[in-house]
Amino acid sequence: MGRRRRRRKVVRRVVRRLPTIFECPSCGAQAVRIEMKREEGIAIVQCGSCGLSDTIKITPLSEPVDVYGEFIDRYYATIESE
Ligand SMILES: [Zn+2]
Repeated sequence: MGRRRRRRKVVRRVVRRLPTIFECPSCGAQAVRIEMKREEGIAIVQCGSCGLSDTIKITPLSEPVDVYGEFIDRYYATIESE
């Protein structure tokens, strides 16, 4: 008879969803939403406060935070060229 281990520690894995609300580079509000449209290979980025929006191409490995980074880069590239 082996030892029975009845008490198993239940390790609950909390799946942390990455935040999909980011700070807007234009108005500074924490209102930028990123919608990942993986089937289409794009992400829609939109600020719920000032309406700033962009469409970013994504790869299957892209995460919202990557999209946000690209969005920021594009935003600053745009304002610098104006
Ligand atoms: Zn904004």
